[in-house]
Amino acid sequence: MARYPRLEVNLQVIERNVSTILTRCQKWQMRPVFVTKGFLADFPLVQLLYEMGVRNFADSNLANLVRMRTFFGQEVRLSLIRLPMIQELGTIVENECIPFISHWETLERTNTVAQKRRKVQEVVLAIEMGDAREGFLPEELFHIGERVKDFPWVSVVGTASTLACLNGVLPNEKILQQLIKYKEDLKKELRKEDFFLSVGGTTFFELWEENTRWEGVDELRFGEAFLFGSDISRKKIIPWLEQGAFRIWAEIVEIRSKEIDPHSGQGFDAFGESVHPHFQGKRKRALLALGKQDIDEHQLYFADSGATIVGATSNYLVVDVEDSTKEYQVGDVLCFRAGYGAALRAFLSPYLEKVYVKGEGVRDEYKIQR
Ligand SMILES: *Cc1c(COP(=O)(O)O)cnc(C)c1O
Repeated sequence: MARYPRLEVNLQVIERNVSTILTRCQKWQMRPVFVTKGFLADFPLVQLLYEMGVRNFADSNLANLVRMRTFFGQEVRLSLIRLPMIQELGTIVENECIPFISHWETLERTNTVAQKRRKVQEVVLAIEMGDAREGFLPEELFHIGERVKDFPWVSVVGTASTLACLNGVLPNEKILQQLIKYKEDLKKELRKEDFFLSVGGTTFFELWEENTRWEGVDELRFGEAFLFGSDISRKKIIPWLEQGAFRIWAEIVEIRSKEIDPHSGQGFDAFGESVHPHFQGKRKRALLALGKQDIDEHQLYFADSGATIVGATSNYLVVDVEDSTKEYQVGDVLCFRAGYGAALRAFLSPYLEKVYVKGEGVRDEYKIQR
């Protein structure tokens, strides 16, 4: 018997996206790096990628990379794309993960840890390009050739930039040209022929769609593109990819016409956020056994245009179905398309069953089961 709530992942949709992206990256002469943090590097999905020939993975959580090292051995290249904690350096060296680094102090500690294990550790220098998140400021990297002489057990193999993550700063041609110049300078300073420039995430695809060839960018890191076929930094879908690989099913546990009391005092919601309810009189509302603990309600999409998600508490999702032509009842199971934030939280929630399917990609999104 099927259990709800459930997260359903359609492997066929993802397979087609991966295949499309692999072809494009080959044309663009760029190394594709598949970011696995959005689904906790869950085995069925990373296995699919591996079987399709993917050998470059990146994650912001070291435990996910260590698991992939165990699954796939030395054949895969693993990047830790969140700056490491000092306590993680031993595990990083042992598992040959390549971390992003943005401090000389961290580089020095890495050198010490690597020396102890008699293993040269590859690292990538993160560079700040305007999103004000992680990375060295470009001017800190002048004369790097001199500085890395102190760290013989560390090999700086590339530089990386990430945009549109914290402040929504979008990449453009100027930023890219600047990055390419920094890379060339670093390459000269370090005297490394295959020193590379890595950019991410999905937001960068747009630049290749426009231009197709950026001499000097070697690697593209992305998660959202192959998983969701969308680019949330521009609030758009990527038309040459497919959406809808992630669906969430949840059951209606109450359905009634209800009215928000307009006369009592207005406080805050259960999370301390201010609320601005619409006092519209009685409206038919469905309560589903699914909540903020399991999903991000702002990134759930429901196909019934007469229904609106009005909010969520820790354990209920509330859908206004007053204007719907469908007859919803208690016990009905509704199906939502999930965006990045909703799917990530669903993977993290122990309350959802995770199911992988290989069936048809497109289907009735609000299908009701009794
Ligand atoms: C998450 C992440 C990515 C991938 O971002 P998407 O928007 O999912 O494509 C790339 N690089 C870094 C450093 C990240 O943290």
